[in-house]
Amino acid sequence: MIDLQREYDGCWELFHRQYPYLERPKLYIKKLIKTWGLCAKRYISLNRKLQKLDDVYFVRHVIYHEMSHLIHMNHSRAFYDVLKQFDPLLKKENEKLHKRVEAFKAIVERK
Ligand SMILES: [Zn+2]
Repeated sequence: MIDLQREYDGCWELFHRQYPYLERPKLYIKKLIKTWGLCAKRYISLNRKLQKLDDVYFVRHVIYHEMSHLIHMNHSRAFYDVLKQFDPLLKKENEKLHKRVEAFKAIVERK
């Protein structure tokens, strides 16, 4: 089991260092349908299934993805420029990440 709150805290520390003017969004861990995470300015929701994936890098990828939406509420190039600063997989293992995203897409779409 991955401790999502602990991962979130660790990610936030780095993210907030870069963007200190941001307020920390509250974390919700819940049952989400067809998505790993959601961001709505004051809170970030993570799919509780992430706890069981046993892939901490993918979990951090999802967390940083949602945090990057605090800067850009879209998937523009500027959004990915923010994400790339933090995401360990986007930085080094783009192809591997892509495979994981595809594999995990199948899991998240299961009920
Ligand atoms: Zn997104």
